Amino acid sequence: MTTTPEAAGPAAGASQLLKGIGKIDGDGFKDTTRKGEVVFVYAQPLPEPYAPGQYPRVGNTGYSASTQQYDFAPATVDEAREHIEARLAAAADELARAKKLTNDLGKIIHDMTVAQQAAWIEWQHGKGADAAMTWIHNGLAGPGFIPDEDEPYGKEAQAWYDANRADPFPTCFCGRPSNSLWMGKGFCSNAHYEQHRAEVEAQKKEG
Ligand SMILES: [Zn+2]
Repeated sequence: MTTTPEAAGPAAGASQLLKGIGKIDGDGFKDTTRKGEVVFVYAQPLPEPYAPGQYPRVGNTGYSASTQQYDFAPATVDEAREHIEARLAAAADELARAKKLTNDLGKIIHDMTVAQQAAWIEWQHGKGADAAMTWIHNGLAGPGFIPDEDEPYGKEAQAWYDANRADPFPTCFCGRPSNSLWMGKGFCSNAHYEQHRAEVEAQKKEG
């Protein structure tokens, strides 16, 4: 068998994975190494600008493990197999959990939408707007989501929405929650948007 001088990594027949055993306790922040910890890496040292003796980790190649942190030895086929299978099983479990969560959230959103549709039908074709609001009220009262009037903006529909939605705009310069966005700044009202724009225009003329 011939190898070229540039060839990096294990020769054919050599172990493709190294098993490392932690030999130091890292600072727990930049270096999470623990004494006796077991890691697996590909038997190909990372090229510069990495310092010598660094290897890419199996399952997370952007993350290295070095000979200063671990004592490395070739992994046996059984060790490599056990590690890889465990990683894949953990990933499959995580995916199954994420799918279940997505499914559950989808059902919650679906039922909230159907309840709002029922409210709309009540309003347009049933007993009218007050009766329609019973649909909305019941949907909130069950899980305890009736807004407390003493909460900030508990008596102002638009400001309540602006302040409490999942991704609020930046707060207006007056301190109130925003419902419009311009040049990265949020505004609670058209008046404050116009005021800010006028100030920006004035500054442009001066500059
Ligand atoms: Zn404002």
